[in-house]
Amino acid sequence: MPLRIPLRAFKSGSFRLSVWYSGFFISCSVLILIMTHYFLSYTLLRVDKTAIAAELGRLTTEYNFRGLPSLQRELAENKNTYRGKNPFFVRIADISNRTLYILYPELWKEFDLSLLGTNPITNGRWTYLPTMDEDFELLLLSRRLHDGRWLQLGRSSEVRDLALDQFFELFFIIIPPLVLMGVAGGTFLAARTMKPIQNMIHTVQSIVNGNYDARVPCTGSRDELNELANLFNEMAERIHALITGMKESIDNVAHELRTPMTRLRNTCEMALQADKDVDLYREALADCIEESDRILKMLTTLMDISEAETGVMKLDQKTVTLSSLLTGLTDMYQYIAEEKGVALAIHVPEALYITVDPDRMTQVLANILDNAIKYTPSRGRVTIETKHSDGRWVITIADTGVGISPKDLPKIWDRLYRGDDSRSTRGLGLGLSFVKAIVHAHQGTIDVVSTPGKGSTFTISLPSNS
Ligand code: ADP
Repeated sequence: MPLRIPLRAFKSGSFRLSVWYSGFFISCSVLILIMTHYFLSYTLLRVDKTAIAAELGRLTTEYNFRGLPSLQRELAENKNTYRGKNPFFVRIADISNRTLYILYPELWKEFDLSLLGTNPITNGRWTYLPTMDEDFELLLLSRRLHDGRWLQLGRSSEVRDLALDQFFELFFIIIPPLVLMGVAGGTFLAARTMKPIQNMIHTVQSIVNGNYDARVPCTGSRDELNELANLFNEMAERIHALITGMKESIDNVAHELRTPMTRLRNTCEMALQADKDVDLYREALADCIEESDRILKMLTTLMDISEAETGVMKLDQKTVTLSSLLTGLTDMYQYIAEEKGVALAIHVPEALYITVDPDRMTQVLANILDNAIKYTPSRGRVTIETKHSDGRWVITIADTGVGISPKDLPKIWDRLYRGDDSRSTRGLGLGLSFVKAIVHAHQGTIDVVSTPGKGSTFTISLPSNS
């Protein structure tokens, strides 16, 4: 068990990311050091070669113009160049490569100078003579003199190698803090990168444990992880709203079903207890059918609302004129309005084309029209009008009815909500929820403005091309 925690930590994304970051940082740093070493060694060699070539040129001219004695004098006088810290090696050989003159052989005792007499000598070519123990090498350049003799000039690699060795020592001093910096930087960057993901994991865990209000903390930055956190929160919010809505709906449906189901049961019970009276049975059965129709209507409407709200509802969209949708309704509602003493006026241009699901949109208009007539007392007025505004069709259904109190106004779109004053009238409290869901499914909007005692105006706005 005690091994489990570290093992889990090693397998975690943060650990892997920090290993990747650290590894990358350390590899890059080591690569830079190796490249620097290579360039330093190359540059030092080039400096030596340039110096040897320049000095060889100068001594060749001296020899060719003034002869060997003058050259020897020159070499003896230039102590710094030929006996200093990084001196030149000078050798003059005859045509057969036998040494005629060599400067300070004891300085070069580590090298097997006898090889110079045996190795072939080439004009203007770089050659290397190693020390006996092969620690250093003598870098040599040879030039043929005007009388056929040879002048050889060289330098030991000792100074160069010492500089490179010092660099190497520095290299090993730098490596440990570099590794530490790499690991610390990697851990810091991994922790920073993984923080939003860990926050998300904690939030998901909280939600799984039943805390549906848990949300991922957002930093406000515009990076992808913050955007993901925002989207996650938005998704969690919507799911929460959906679950709450479903729960409320189920509670409401259970509550709403209790009364008709009890009524249904009582009707049946009373019929069973009554004497064998056919008329009574028929009446009881008719009541049962009416009650079950009501329940069925309620369940169908609730399912339609859910389908429309969740986007599952299939809309059979067609381009039709609005007046054709209203024709069937007008006849029926004209009659109902007349019965009630309400004036119904419809002002819709003939050639107003809209692309909608005709059946669903007819249901929407029927619901609003039905409410308007239902909640308008006699001698009132209901008007339907349309206009085109900002690329949308706007349909208004206004009545001069009882109006809706400001307290009820935000709730009228809720499922199964019925205003206090409407309890006496027929209805399920589902009409406006259905209307809103269908209008939204058509990418439209619906609003209401109402003044109690004066009337209400419902406004549907639909995209022109819908
Ligand atoms: P209902 O079956 O009760 O009419 P709705 O969902 O259609 O259910 O309406 C919800 C509530 O909104 C109604 O109970 C009523 O209080 C109010 N309402 C809707 N339309 C009107 C209107 N035109 N005038 C006044 N009140 C209205």
